Amino acid sequence: MACGASSMTAQSPEAEAFASATATPDENTGMLRDRRRHSFHASRKLSCDYQDADAVFIRVELFLSELERRMHWIEQYRKSHMVQVDASLKRGYATLEAVRDQCSLASGELMGSGKKRAKILVETLEDGYNEALVTKETLEQKAQAGVRLMESFLVELESKVHAVRDRGIYGTIDDGWKAVDSGLVHAREIVDEGMERARHARDTLRDTIEEAIRLAKEKRLINYDELPHPWRVNPHILNGYRFTTSKVECVSSIFAFSNEMFNIWSHVIGLIIVLAIAFYFYPLHTNFHLSSKSDVTIAAVFFFAACKCLVCSTIWHTMNSIASQPLMERFACVDYTGISMLVAASIVTTEYTAFYCEPFSRWVYILLTMSFGIGGIILPWHPTFNRHDMAWARVGFYVTLALTGFSPIAQLIYTRGFSWTMYFYAPVMKSIMVYFIGACVYASKVPERWKPGLFDYVGGSHNIWHLAVLGGIFFHYHAMQDLFAGAFQRALGECPNMTM
Ligand SMILES: [Zn+2]
Repeated sequence: MACGASSMTAQSPEAEAFASATATPDENTGMLRDRRRHSFHASRKLSCDYQDADAVFIRVELFLSELERRMHWIEQYRKSHMVQVDASLKRGYATLEAVRDQCSLASGELMGSGKKRAKILVETLEDGYNEALVTKETLEQKAQAGVRLMESFLVELESKVHAVRDRGIYGTIDDGWKAVDSGLVHAREIVDEGMERARHARDTLRDTIEEAIRLAKEKRLINYDELPHPWRVNPHILNGYRFTTSKVECVSSIFAFSNEMFNIWSHVIGLIIVLAIAFYFYPLHTNFHLSSKSDVTIAAVFFFAACKCLVCSTIWHTMNSIASQPLMERFACVDYTGISMLVAASIVTTEYTAFYCEPFSRWVYILLTMSFGIGGIILPWHPTFNRHDMAWARVGFYVTLALTGFSPIAQLIYTRGFSWTMYFYAPVMKSIMVYFIGACVYASKVPERWKPGLFDYVGGSHNIWHLAVLGGIFFHYHAMQDLFAGAFQRALGECPNMTM
């Protein structure tokens, strides 16, 4: 036996394509290479020229039975995976099909079937690949050359299918994973970057908090620039900030000089005065003796709201130097809820007295105001509401809440006339004006914005706001007494049963 297959396979263009395909480096083709090696091995075996005619025909028989099986496999894969046979392989594929089909027609003949089919094989091949067989003289030689040629086509087709299948299973998965991986890497980078920034911000904040605590211990009061960012509220108040980790120290600091001293004590003193009014002066008032239980309840609601507002404010200004951001923010919310309740309760007293003899209207307006009041208790707990740049939004909300106090105007003008309505609201105008001016001063940070540092301890916008709140409470108390007096007067004629 002489082996001369290499020259044969190298001659055909398909075999050249195959050779170049196998030469292409591919990391994912380990299995494929093994399969190819196996195919080459088989090819080499087949490529040996058999001198014995019977042996050649047996080889042809064996090849044809193998061809059937291998073609079936290639076709199955081609159909199920919609794989198109390459243009370069189309001719070889068609030849293989032709050989298979022609030779299968000759099956069933037992005697001499090998020779017959070898003949058919050679004839079929000669149609398209005469150049490969023309040099061979005998049928046996031509048959062997034909088998080698077809083997090369088969190996090439199989390798293509394997490549597609491998790419399909591993390549696609690989590509997919690569895309997912790169996406994940990118996402991880963004997350890492964000985390890093957050970590940096947190570390920086922790450092500035520690530094502020250290400085406050050292010199008791620190300045605005030494204050960690979340504690910075008013950039025009430059000095006099307390800062401590201890709640006890926060409380005890109310007796020491600081930029919160005025804010704390204005409302502590205000609270004492309101309590004195509620429990001493109000019971002495003529109205008190004319009041029903519900009248007293409404007055009590107002006093309670006023006290709650002052207490909340005092708590906030006492505790806002605590070196814990979540705690500090919670105390800020406490302050806002107090203001909402005070404004709502003040309005309720006007609505109550305006419709003293009209319970239905009275409750409609009271419920409207109360719903805004409840909103004012809930909203401050939302982080956005407390942002430094939301000062005007906060004022806007409180003004709207205050405006619900005027919602009965249309009905009052319609039922009692314009001058009556103006006369009715006259007593509350003072407190409304005081609240309004105070709120504007509070939001605009006047006068400290004109002269930063000058109003650090006294005279700043927040000090003025605190006085405005006190003024509002006292003016409203007096207005409430006037409103009750008017209501009792009207009730004598309109609803005598409701006064007692
Ligand atoms: Zn305050």
